[in-house]
Amino acid sequence: LKEESVRRLTTALPLLLLLVSGKPLPAQQQPLPDFSKVQIQTRKVAGHIYMLVGAGGNIAVSAGNDGLLMVDTEYPPMFDKIEAALKELSDKPLRFVIDTHWHLDHASGNENFARAGAIVVAQENVRRILASGTMRDGVNYPPFPKDDLPAVTYNDRATIYWNGEPVKLIHYPNAHTDGDTVVYFANSQVLDTGDNYRTDGFPLVDQDNGGSVKGIIAALDNIMETYPPATKVIPGHGPEPMTVADIKSFANMLKDCRARVEKGIAAGKTVAQLKQEKVLSGYEKYSGRVTSDHFTEMLYRELTEKK
Ligand SMILES: [Zn+2]
Repeated sequence: LKEESVRRLTTALPLLLLLVSGKPLPAQQQPLPDFSKVQIQTRKVAGHIYMLVGAGGNIAVSAGNDGLLMVDTEYPPMFDKIEAALKELSDKPLRFVIDTHWHLDHASGNENFARAGAIVVAQENVRRILASGTMRDGVNYPPFPKDDLPAVTYNDRATIYWNGEPVKLIHYPNAHTDGDTVVYFANSQVLDTGDNYRTDGFPLVDQDNGGSVKGIIAALDNIMETYPPATKVIPGHGPEPMTVADIKSFANMLKDCRARVEKGIAAGKTVAQLKQEKVLSGYEKYSGRVTSDHFTEMLYRELTEKK
């Protein structure tokens, strides 16, 4: 089972190396982490809600009398370690898995949990993409096996009543992808933003599958209007729980970067010129997995692409 998973995850790599040889690898196609070296760290966020930090996207866990509910599943090779971390929180079974979006660092771990009996829930576009496979930045992502697909989908809003509170699933369209779910644990007052908010750098927007910086900004603005500043936040990536108040500087950065590139385009500049004149200068601390140049390219594409 596990070999199968790793093979599926790495299918895209040889083709990719062929395609881009001579050029640096685009950020999202960097080699997979060395899973054997990764330890899961469990952080208590509020009440019975926990955050697991491992390899890939962060995981939220609700542990209580009804059993376990988990948001996102990392990669298949992390299954045993995640399961051990869950056992530390509760000896009750995992009943629900929610996918915040289709990306493999968040959803490819579905298979083990689904086969162990959990019901996977996702926005309907996540199931569509996982069922048919997709292309992203020139890389082919094959379909998930039928048994690993979300069993329950929803369109705009859904609620799971679990461990004494409404767990609200809110779809934000065309944000990080076209199938994003933000999860709100209503009594615990904890929000899992998926990759719409991350604390480790510029966002990696899935432009081939309906994602946009504009949509992420709209989602974050709505989150800041809807939830009190002290609301705890589990970011898609980043080592610590944050708050809604922390989102502001990230959202402001996105708005400013987008406005700068838009201004450059209006002045007739090419993407090469914008990169050369370092249009995003001052935001170097966000440059990492997605570099300033890569983020400039993303914004340029978004602002010039015909819809
Ligand atoms: Zn993602």
